[in-house]
Amino acid sequence: MALNFARLSQRLGNRSTGLRQARFLSSTPSPNPSVKKQKYEGRREIFEAPSMLDIGVRRIFDEEHDMFRQNVRRFFQEEVIPQHEKWENDGQVSREIWERAGENGLLGVATPEEFGGIGGDFLMTSIVMEEQSYSNCSGPGWALHSDIVMPYITHYGSKEQIEKFIPAMTAGKCIGAIAMTEPGAGSDLQGIRTNARRDGDDYILNGSKVFITNGYMSDLVIVVAITDPKAKSAAHGISLFLVEEGMEGFKKGRKLKKMGLKAQDTAELFFEDVRLPKSALLGEEGKGFYYLMNELPQERLLIAIMCQAASEFMFEETRKYVRERKAFGKTLSKVQVIQHRLAELKTEISVTRAFVDQCMDIHNTRGLDSSTASMAKYWISELENRVAYECVQLHGGWGYMWEYPVTKTYVDARVQPIYGGSNEIMKELIARQIVSE
Ligand SMILES: Cc1cc2nc3c(=O)[nH]c(=O)nc-3n(C[C@H](O)[C@H](O)[C@H](O)COP(=O)(O)OP(=O)(O)OC[C@H]3O[C@@H](n4cnc5c(N)ncnc54)[C@H](O)[C@@H]3O)c2cc1C
Repeated sequence: MALNFARLSQRLGNRSTGLRQARFLSSTPSPNPSVKKQKYEGRREIFEAPSMLDIGVRRIFDEEHDMFRQNVRRFFQEEVIPQHEKWENDGQVSREIWERAGENGLLGVATPEEFGGIGGDFLMTSIVMEEQSYSNCSGPGWALHSDIVMPYITHYGSKEQIEKFIPAMTAGKCIGAIAMTEPGAGSDLQGIRTNARRDGDDYILNGSKVFITNGYMSDLVIVVAITDPKAKSAAHGISLFLVEEGMEGFKKGRKLKKMGLKAQDTAELFFEDVRLPKSALLGEEGKGFYYLMNELPQERLLIAIMCQAASEFMFEETRKYVRERKAFGKTLSKVQVIQHRLAELKTEISVTRAFVDQCMDIHNTRGLDSSTASMAKYWISELENRVAYECVQLHGGWGYMWEYPVTKTYVDARVQPIYGGSNEIMKELIARQIVSE
């Protein structure tokens, strides 16, 4: 990883950010000599650190990850946060920020270098997502682009497809989206109606999709479509296609007005007799459902990672607020009921942090199974909503005002138990594994 990191550091400038590093009390117990020394010896966990957002903590990371995180944090502070309010009003981010993210090595971080990606590990790409949540800027759909869409292309794409799309996606010049959901079919993916019928060597695509993240700005959309309506099961008749902006018959609808994620473009997409060459088929015909099932665990883990980081962000915002806000002649942080509320929040967030880090570590080394990824998504998306509710409550009326960061996180949180597979479906997947013979 050293090589890749050197390249990343070069891109990011590797300047000192002056950001707070974790500081610890010196009263640490002397190490047990029987415990094998590890390169991260001495690293503490987030719940031991002065702030949950500190850099230099968590044993799943090493110093190279810390340096990368410092640079990513600086990027969000300098280039994303100042523009986010404008993007919230526009309902989308700018094209320039995609290209700036590309220039700074923030896209395709975990995509192998030989395919045109950055060549980092899963932990590095997770840092980009965590820092996005810590910045409270939900606009850029980079996690979906880099860690959901790009892996489909590198895992199932032809050499030509990889060469055509991956370097451009890493550079932020080609924005990716994935279109599964339809007005009449979300959880029940096998109930989709969008279809691609053969016409000689080509396919003719018809149908529509809804709620597509990055949909309005997309240059490339992976579209899930039925290619064999007579297959032995609906799942066997589904294929994936790479549909490009500008193809005749491919139209984008309006940017949908949402409760939260205000700066993220979410759109309807329409396909009217779109003629697709055979080269637009991703992987093999009829294998689409199988590919989706393979890739969805990572999508669910990504959601969990972002929900966890958002919970930590809200906790720190609230800790800061109650230390400053005065009522009845003292700061709120001196009131025992408030202290207990914070104690409960910190405990809950810390317990899930331990689980998420385990999941990240497992995924980084050998891949996380579907059931565990579903547990992470279900539990931590609900945690984020509980934390959001409490943090808004602790801000009082100011927690209902848009200018306070927790307000935005509160509305952004609501979608997490719904998308990426609803939490009811997550429980189905977890239960299926529990009761399987
Ligand atoms: C902001 C946003 C971004 C999104 N981005 C994308 C994207 O980029 N690409 C994409 O393809 N999709 C995207 N989606 C769609 C999202 O994945 C779906 O909304 C989600 O899967 C739920 O499907 P649905 O809305 O059709 O709800 P439905 O499937 O109609 O479900 C309605 C309710 O019934 C429950 N339910 C359904 N079936 C069962 C069952 N068998 N047992 C118990 N309960 C059940 C659900 O859990 C839910 O609570 C996005 C959605 C949103 C809101």
